[in-house]
Amino acid sequence: MMITRNRAGLKYYQFETLLFDELTQAVFSRLGGTSPSPWKSLNLGGTVGDDPDRVQNNEDKLLGAIGYSSRQLSQVHQVHSAKVEVVAEPNNKQPGLPQADAMITNKPGILLLMRYADCVPIFFYDPVKKAAGIAHAGWQGTVKEIAFVTVKEMEKHFGTNPSDLITGIGPSIGPDHYQVGIDVIDAVKKAFGDNWDRVLTPGPDDVKFNLWKANEISLRKAGVLDIETAGICTGCSVVEWFSHRRENGKNWKICCSYWAYLNNGYNELPRIESYQGTD
Ligand SMILES: [Zn+2]
Repeated sequence: MMITRNRAGLKYYQFETLLFDELTQAVFSRLGGTSPSPWKSLNLGGTVGDDPDRVQNNEDKLLGAIGYSSRQLSQVHQVHSAKVEVVAEPNNKQPGLPQADAMITNKPGILLLMRYADCVPIFFYDPVKKAAGIAHAGWQGTVKEIAFVTVKEMEKHFGTNPSDLITGIGPSIGPDHYQVGIDVIDAVKKAFGDNWDRVLTPGPDDVKFNLWKANEISLRKAGVLDIETAGICTGCSVVEWFSHRRENGKNWKICCSYWAYLNNGYNELPRIESYQGTD
């Protein structure tokens, strides 16, 4: 079960199994930012019509909450691929960000930032080789098995043994809310073969796709043993999460997730049981 944190007015979550002194990890909710409706409120999307000053202010708030600076950020242009970027140094706001849907690093002090609205954030940490990664898996990244590819890239670049990896599958559109059409059904059956009936659930009126289970299957196939699934559905709580699907498919809602590797003691933050703010 993920642990809830409340700091500097922001609410975020941490994977219980990924609490290491040398590691900072967070999945931020949309609460506590500065943008008004419809971006309300911690919008980090720069191309969704929100005021750039507010977006910058949101980013500053988020960084402040976990004690980082924008100079430490590494980002990619997310394109629903299975491409993994090996990060050796921060690249924040440099022109021509690489196109990729996962980042991995074994360099301390780098913050890996990705943005989500319903897609699945997947966190990876190898406590033996001290290497970390984050992936973005919508249905496309899931059928391209970006979770599997990310593990393989960590093996290749950092010598990671998959059985040492601790992984987390974060908040995203859940199996109760994710209806899919024939294109997705076909792609899932092709990608998951005999396992398709573990991830697709036909109902009387529609078929639902379980992104959490699908990514878990990919991780297990790669040899990962330790997988924490948040079980939090973004479609069930649009107050707390940006949901591309629940909010009329308008693509102006961007949730975000930070994953970083640095010894700064943030795992010592007090635990809170519930969010007290107003939304
Ligand atoms: Zn739901």
